[in-house]
Amino acid sequence: MKHIEIKGARQNNLKNIDVEIPRNQIVVFTGLSGSGKSSLVFETITAEAQRQLYDTFSTFARSRLSKYDQADYDSIINLSPVILLEQKRIVGNSRSNVGTLSEISAFLKLLYSRVGLPAVGMSNHFSPNSVEGMCPKCGGAGTINNLDINGIIDWNKSLKQGAILFPDFKVNSLAWKIIINTGFFDADKPLKEYTDKEKEMLFYADGIKFKLSEGEQGFDANFNGIVTKINRGFLKKDFNSLSKSRQKIITQFVKTTTCTDCNGARLKKEALACKINQKNIHELGELQLTELLEFFREIKSEEAETILEQLIKRTDNLIKIGVGYLSLSRATGTLSGGEAQRVQLAKQLGNSLTEMLYVLDEPSVGLHPRDVALVASLLKELRNQGNTILMVEHDPDLIKIADHIVDMGPHAGSKGGEVVFQGSFKELSRANTLTGKYINQKIPVKKNFRPWKDFFEIKNATANNLKNIDVKIPSNIFVCVTGVAGSGKSSLIHKEFLSKYSEAIVIDQSPVGKSIRSNPATYTGVFDQVRELFAEKNSNTKASLFSFNADGACENCKGLGYILMDLAFMDPIKTNCEKCNGNRYDKEVLKYKLNNKTIVDVLELTVNQAIDFFTDSKILKKLKVLQEVGLGYLQLGQPLSTLSGGECQRVKLAGELHKEGNIYILDEPTTGLHLSDITKIIELLEKLVNKGNSVIVIEHSLDIMNNADWIIDIGPEGGKNGGELIFEGTPNQLQKNNNSYTAKFLNLYNS
Ligand code: ADP
Ligand code: ADP
Ligand code: ZN
Ligand code: ZN
Repeated sequence: MKHIEIKGARQNNLKNIDVEIPRNQIVVFTGLSGSGKSSLVFETITAEAQRQLYDTFSTFARSRLSKYDQADYDSIINLSPVILLEQKRIVGNSRSNVGTLSEISAFLKLLYSRVGLPAVGMSNHFSPNSVEGMCPKCGGAGTINNLDINGIIDWNKSLKQGAILFPDFKVNSLAWKIIINTGFFDADKPLKEYTDKEKEMLFYADGIKFKLSEGEQGFDANFNGIVTKINRGFLKKDFNSLSKSRQKIITQFVKTTTCTDCNGARLKKEALACKINQKNIHELGELQLTELLEFFREIKSEEAETILEQLIKRTDNLIKIGVGYLSLSRATGTLSGGEAQRVQLAKQLGNSLTEMLYVLDEPSVGLHPRDVALVASLLKELRNQGNTILMVEHDPDLIKIADHIVDMGPHAGSKGGEVVFQGSFKELSRANTLTGKYINQKIPVKKNFRPWKDFFEIKNATANNLKNIDVKIPSNIFVCVTGVAGSGKSSLIHKEFLSKYSEAIVIDQSPVGKSIRSNPATYTGVFDQVRELFAEKNSNTKASLFSFNADGACENCKGLGYILMDLAFMDPIKTNCEKCNGNRYDKEVLKYKLNNKTIVDVLELTVNQAIDFFTDSKILKKLKVLQEVGLGYLQLGQPLSTLSGGECQRVKLAGELHKEGNIYILDEPTTGLHLSDITKIIELLEKLVNKGNSVIVIEHSLDIMNNADWIIDIGPEGGKNGGELIFEGTPNQLQKNNNSYTAKFLNLYNS
């Protein structure tokens, strides 16, 4: 059997390791968070596979692709082209949706061009993104942006007093000067006194000639009204292509309404008139996928047989993977990371490629145990087509389907980076590693559920698929919200609950800290104290000398540690700063020490090591909080931008541990966590409740459910067939409920 052979892998914490990975199998990488799974799977194997592919492209193609950094290793052989399915939400443009992402839309257009009646034309006549197909009024967007004139004008003011509120027309801006210089307007008259004709001119003028006079000279210029100008400048462009600050301005001044010509269908009248079994292509996009499949099955057409086969197979794959509640028109940007990953996975199955390398990051995220089983069967199918599957996972149900397991450890950070076990699931459960130990072990269940009397009330909840439900969420206890994917958990908590109780604090997995210069030391604030200690110990120095953001910065890289080289038409290349060797400091600063360590040495300490090194109680107190949330393996100077989503969530949690009287909302806090860390998360949540906080958690982990005080189960299914309150009560009571998938799986687990 052929193996992928990796020699001398040293990326991040990897200990110069050699690894052999079997091909044409499902290979799962396990291990503590921070043990080095991502460093091996994503940063080494995937990056090298992408780089090898990249090298086969023409210079032109390469100039349009992003650059892949060379990872740190000696050699890797027997790789194949890689398809990376990440957990990240897909941003995409506003026109990307489930239909385009899954490629079903392309086949649907073909179908209508072949068998739709009355016949219209080629398949691009059914595309809102082509000139042939788009609704001419809205340009295929389905919506129209109207500038709210009362929003951009203060009618009581004159032009000179700043009557135009839209930022580009500020007093003394170029656009403002042009208006004044046309000579068409009285710049001292309040706008409410303008005649209709003057208003028309000011707002809607379109290329009206005037003489711009600069001193003696005059030259011809064109005048465009305010609305005309804003329309051309921004509103005609794809909203997502504008900068964030522009988007903010636009949303402030613009009202978006549904296009009255196509009613949001985005297509030309002719395309919408073309039907199959009384439905046009837009109406199909609105159907839930399960209904769409039924629709396809009812079409009888020999001419379109192969197209229908593709449509049925692809739609069925999406349903099998548990997203049958979605519709083709659902915008990609509104999908959760897990949903987007599954849509892409289903697309791959439709493509019937072989000998590919599929790499997945925790496909279980966002999935109820019922849904995990669906994903497992899809992955097996992908393997049976002759592909190799590598995935990083913590969920025992997915570890179980592995043909081969690579367990990383023994611990995290500098104490990890080695392969501690390789073999089958059976062998793993007998292995003397953390994963081996925990895979058979059940986390204790809660016996005493906290009683409650006060509660938050949600009445008539109707967001997305919610069926006008009333829900009581007890306060000051640990509440877990459960249900299959798409049942309505997020709609209930993130939409309904948060709109009524906006003071609740959401602790999510988004990046911590905005600056690329932030790290655990700056984030916790210990860096200030550390610098003061350095200044105290070293006479004639100031604390600011020990900052890479201030006096101490290497002047060559300005304290970044690297230099960005701009190349025309290519992404800038990052190179290590030669002057400071990447350590960010001026050489002078490294003369000064604290107990034999320079400031650079201190930033290289892990939190655990720093707790042994320092004696200052203020510093210790702050660092211990990071240790408490299981992040003791992070280095003080490690950029926060390198943390995973789960790690970011725990950093934020650390910041809340000593507060009281708050409402906390956490979405899948077990993401990225090894089984052995789940106990730790439960302890943390308990600690928050004991401090007098209310904790609401959306979770699929049966261990978390077993340890909640109260469970709210939404379902029974996803999408239209969900959105109802199935159960509320203690975990014990839930197990007696016959209508709930959650009850069924919790029973199975606990029996
Ligand atoms: P896992 O995927 O098992 O959670 P990672 O491979 O992400 O672990 O991380 C392994 C170790 O390398 C951790 O200590 C992590 O903090 C560290 N690390 C990850 N990325 C970087 C980076 N860009 N710079 C420095 N250290 C990093
Ligand atoms: P859960 O959190 O239980 O996985 P959600 O509350 O995210 O479920 O979704 C419930 C239903 O609402 C699903 O059918 C989902 O597709 C739909 N939905 C969620 N967000 C949106 C949105 N932004 N636009 C349209 N439908 C949505
Ligand atoms: Zn339209
Ligand atoms: Zn430098």
